[in-house]
Amino acid sequence: MASLTGRSKLGAPSACRESAVMRITFYSAQPYDRRFFDEVRERHFADAGFEFIFQETSLDAGTVALADGSDAVCVFVNDRLDSEVIEALAAQGVRAIVLRCAGFNNVDLAVTQRLGLFVARVPAYSPEAVAEHALAMIMTLNRKTHRAFNRVREGNFALDGLLGRTLYGKTAGVVGTGRIGLCMARIFQGLGCQVLGYDPFPSAAFAAFGRMVSLDELLADADIVSLHCPLTEQTHHLIDRQALALMKPDAMLVNTSRGALIDTPAVIEALKSRQLGALAIDVYEQESELFFRDHSAEIITDDVFARLTSFPNVLITGHQGFFTVEALREIAEVTCGNLQAFANGRECANRL
Ligand code: NAD
Repeated sequence: MASLTGRSKLGAPSACRESAVMRITFYSAQPYDRRFFDEVRERHFADAGFEFIFQETSLDAGTVALADGSDAVCVFVNDRLDSEVIEALAAQGVRAIVLRCAGFNNVDLAVTQRLGLFVARVPAYSPEAVAEHALAMIMTLNRKTHRAFNRVREGNFALDGLLGRTLYGKTAGVVGTGRIGLCMARIFQGLGCQVLGYDPFPSAAFAAFGRMVSLDELLADADIVSLHCPLTEQTHHLIDRQALALMKPDAMLVNTSRGALIDTPAVIEALKSRQLGALAIDVYEQESELFFRDHSAEIITDDVFARLTSFPNVLITGHQGFFTVEALREIAEVTCGNLQAFANGRECANRL
């Protein structure tokens, strides 16, 4: 069967035959990607002609050649799709870029549009999964169950150092009241918190959970500030020195969205001066050097990250908010649907 690339001489991808093979190179592929994508292909896309090639390495100028001969690439949050990489992909015959994630701040869309490439994402996959992970982090950090777990295993039942706060009646601020933000607001309401929201494009649905306020008011009043807005030019370092100065001294900052929403050195200063009470992050500005791989036998050279790990009131997870069976299945289904829409030249609601 022929490949869909220009080299296959099949013409425009939209005109490809049903029986054609579509070769898709996955970057940053993990064993769970292979598991869910193979499963979904077998179950729902057996006739689509998808050939998956899984590459563990991330996509950048040095690894772009691995996609040579592919019709599409499937990428994740830390793959770098700048103009150099996109132009190299296009020169190799790649016509489609499918993101198996919601955020697309790592793709230069001006370049993909100029080159006429098909780009699609998975706009929503179990937003509850991310909100529930944020809740897990808040609960862990507040009640210090991660420390209690270790203590009890060592026969230490002392409670000193494990003091938490009752969340009932506290004020929780949700920055970005989109899909995940709304789930978070519902969870906070369930805990009995007063819920505040900030969003320049507010959703009417938020009124069921809380009150929309300005960002400054939210930062000043909230005991917990949870970030759920996308990373854009406007939100880059949204939480900087000035924003931190507005927050209550014992407030908890939670970021499960994108690392660069936070100015990390400013947050470290705020933690050292006790201006910030606690920090929970599932994302980190320089995470592409670290996350999704095992570095346990190496020396971590990122001193900012190393400093963060040294605080007792900081909890870090490695971008696992999306990591549930339900979300991974949905990601694979929607991505395969996007690829099929591309192959058949159909309208694709998830196209960027
Ligand atoms: P969404 O598009 O449904 O909602 C984002 C909301 O942010 C929108 O309502 C938008 O109006 C708002 N917003 C835009 N600019 C803003 C600003 N300057 N200040 C405040 N709000 C602003 O997106 P979503 O599905 O809720 O996802 C939110 C983010 O979560 C994504 O952009 C992604 O970066 C992140 N995410 C993380 C994980 C993870 O595993 N940790 C998984 C999925 C998504």
